[in-house]
Amino acid sequence: MTVNVRNYVGGIWGDPENSGYLDIENPSTGEVIGKTPLSTAGEANRAIAAAAEAFEGWSRTPVGRRVQPLFELTALLRKNEERIARTLVEEMGKSLPDARAEMKRIFENIEVACGMPVLQQGDKLVGASYDIDGEVIRLPLGVFTMVAPFNFPAMVPFWFLPYALATGNTYVVKASEQVPLTMQAITELIDEVGLPNGVFNLVNGDKTVVEAFIEHPQVKGLSLVGSTKTCQIVAAKCAAAGKRCQAMGGAKNHLVTMPDAKVPDMIRNMITSCYGCAGQRCMASSAIVAVGDEMYKTVCEEFTKASREVLVADPLDPAVADEPMVMGPVISAKSKQFILEMIETGVKEGATLALDGRGLVVPGCEKGHFVGPTVFTDVQPGMEIHKTEIFGPVVIILKADTLDAAIRIINDQQYGNGASIYTQNGRHARQFKLETECGMIGINVGIPAPVAHLPFGGMKASLLSDIKAQGKAVINFFTHDKIITERYWPEDE
Ligand code: NAD
Repeated sequence: MTVNVRNYVGGIWGDPENSGYLDIENPSTGEVIGKTPLSTAGEANRAIAAAAEAFEGWSRTPVGRRVQPLFELTALLRKNEERIARTLVEEMGKSLPDARAEMKRIFENIEVACGMPVLQQGDKLVGASYDIDGEVIRLPLGVFTMVAPFNFPAMVPFWFLPYALATGNTYVVKASEQVPLTMQAITELIDEVGLPNGVFNLVNGDKTVVEAFIEHPQVKGLSLVGSTKTCQIVAAKCAAAGKRCQAMGGAKNHLVTMPDAKVPDMIRNMITSCYGCAGQRCMASSAIVAVGDEMYKTVCEEFTKASREVLVADPLDPAVADEPMVMGPVISAKSKQFILEMIETGVKEGATLALDGRGLVVPGCEKGHFVGPTVFTDVQPGMEIHKTEIFGPVVIILKADTLDAAIRIINDQQYGNGASIYTQNGRHARQFKLETECGMIGINVGIPAPVAHLPFGGMKASLLSDIKAQGKAVINFFTHDKIITERYWPEDE
């Protein structure tokens, strides 16, 4: 049975005005499981109007009361965790343990935002001058909007949503048109927690909706997570329209392996970092830089051998569903085609295809979008397969003579999301964390994705704005500081 996704506007579910419907596929089987409406700009404007109307009452609601529905929401989400995780796997194709972990990050983000009565407090400087006090108050602004990518349909909206609501703003989310079912299931729970109508709204569709967000005079800001190309377009339009903008983009995350690394632990960790979510995490590792001839040889042999053993399957197959490391499909036929073209490019550029994942077929899933683990060795910095975010299970291995040279390889490319080093040497680790131009650094941790209490975000082409997601950092995006300078003259005697 296929499901038609609906919009949630002003507290009411409805079939939106649209310019057509897009199929939603289970990427493991190729089966159509639903349809996403491509909402019109008018439909986006209706959601913004509902959010704008709700702002006055919501922003005046005491912050301690604003967080109460969020406490209720975490409890409801916990109760429904397994059901939503399975929906996520069905439409996106990551493993069930990964989807459960994604749900846990939602709970964590809501819990942090529930601290808003403390986090949103301002400052007061008594005696800024003679008989004059200075005060900083942090106020909500109005309607904010969010545009989500396909790879974390549950977690990414929650890097922003609970903070926007807890600070007193009202919100409109556009889910990824490829995976809208997860956010629909979550919104059904949001509907139950008794937020005033219009405080939260969900609009489905494509870039038409995003353009309407940017053009609408009542929208104060937009948080986008997606490819760097989309971030560039959206960030430029937001700047021209005078909107606040967060734009978190693509990545090419490197793993540096030093000669003293603990090889078996390192290889195990690298495998999950590279192939978890079929390489479609923004923090997925996709380039290994081995330092020294001996480590290069070891990594080429051991990593390729371990890659060959990765279990590839439909993640909802009961025989594998609870396996900690199972690799599912990539998101779509289009994405698979791009990955296959990039493998072909690597071969043409002269890299050695040490493991070829093309042609892999999962029995019973012949229409699924699977690509097997793929490893290139003898890769030179600056090759297309090094410069491009492939966003699939394709890993390249490069060699560097020194740590300085390895850091240069990372810093010379455009992205700066995450990077990790494997070493037992504190001095090397310290140099790496200080000199590598990436926003998130791992030391013997392949996916250094910060917990919700800390900011999440990269630099360079991976972050086209300056305020990161989640934690205390994102509160600055959703509030403006008003600074008051006050004095009172003495009464006339
Ligand atoms: P995408 O850029 O294709 O789409 C992201 C969102 O933007 C979607 O909702 C889409 O409808 C919208 N969109 C697409 N083109 C647009 C346009 N021209 N104007 C306005 N809106 C537009 O990205 P995707 O394929 O869904 O997601 C994968 C990408 O997201 C990867 O590059 C990945 O690295 C990145 N990502 C980054 C982070 C991070 O923290 N930096 C996190 C997750 C994903």
